[in-house]
Amino acid sequence: MIPISKPNIDQNEKDAVMAVLNSGIIASGPKVKEFEGAFAAMAGVKHAIAVSNGTCSLHTCLVMNNIGKDDRVLTTPFTFIATGNSIIHAGAEPVFCDIEEDSFNINPDKIEETLKKDIFRKIKAVMIVHLFGRCCDMDRITAITKKYGVKIIEDAAQAHGAMFKGRKAGSFGDGGSFSMYATKNITTSEGGIVTTDDDKAAEIARSFINHGSEKVYYHTRLGYNYRMTDIEAAIGVEQLKKLDKFNSARRVNSLELSGFLKKFRAVSVPEESLDYFHIYHQYTIRVTNGNRDEVIKGLSENGVGAKVFYPLPLHRQPYYAQVLKSIPSLPVSEKAAAEVISLPVHPGLTGREKEAVKAAFEKISGKLQ
Ligand SMILES: *Cc1c(COP(=O)(O)O)cnc(C)c1O
Repeated sequence: MIPISKPNIDQNEKDAVMAVLNSGIIASGPKVKEFEGAFAAMAGVKHAIAVSNGTCSLHTCLVMNNIGKDDRVLTTPFTFIATGNSIIHAGAEPVFCDIEEDSFNINPDKIEETLKKDIFRKIKAVMIVHLFGRCCDMDRITAITKKYGVKIIEDAAQAHGAMFKGRKAGSFGDGGSFSMYATKNITTSEGGIVTTDDDKAAEIARSFINHGSEKVYYHTRLGYNYRMTDIEAAIGVEQLKKLDKFNSARRVNSLELSGFLKKFRAVSVPEESLDYFHIYHQYTIRVTNGNRDEVIKGLSENGVGAKVFYPLPLHRQPYYAQVLKSIPSLPVSEKAAAEVISLPVHPGLTGREKEAVKAAFEKISGKLQ
């Protein structure tokens, strides 16, 4: 089976990890500092704070922006569960609005509609997700959030190095959050990063991820142990050096697939636009004739590990029936959940595997009319 993702680890990462193990400093130490510096430079931000994973980095982003009890956070339902859950972890209430048909990202018109109706000004932030590695329309979202005085938190878990008009994901908002889980564009096995340009927010974040301490054994707030280890950071330093190469390979593989798949009547391929440097964390098509599940089955029978991200929007998750006061109707998200398929485009894909993906589509072309 051709896997949808594959960690790209070579001798550099192995040597770096061994060096940490041999050094005797295996928890948070100099490698974490080095990784944070390199990540901040990559993302074009003043501060990068390394944490244990991309869920606690979202939680930290909210806390460092003083968002919690009695606050609401507007977000997209078409995302991984951690986006919504982090809002609940912070003690706030998630509010969902619908996405754009073409980009799968939160719809700026719907953001504005929701903020306009929020007469008691309970919504303190919009948590946007640069889904699949394509940035949201940051011109429009920045203008709208400014107008209503709400903050932007960027869930950039899938967007390391992605750009909108030449500017990097994670550098637009009041907090950016990245994940370095094993399947992401770069990995530290598990890991996360918080980004911000704000000195005060960075200071709160550093304390929050370290038991709320201001200095050793002196605690000024409730915090957690959300620290990254030097073992993980050592992998991250090596991965970051290869990020541009990884992203280029994903783009080449994706554009090649788009060129090929266009001929199938019931397939719609991701849009490419000059304003967006899409890094294809996922390469996601729609099957528009109702055959999505059959197509997945056909691809799987022909050795292609295609997957559905995401089959159930957050507002339809069983747990969220307990969380939400009423379940909204968000038809664009629901349609996407029923039509999407993600295909392998990771940098480790061989020429032979790429041909096998195309051959699998030829074999099941009857389902794509
Ligand atoms: C992976 C991911 C997260 C969570 O990251 P973890 O490191 O797995 O905790 C959050 N949001 C999105 C959109 C993700 O893809």
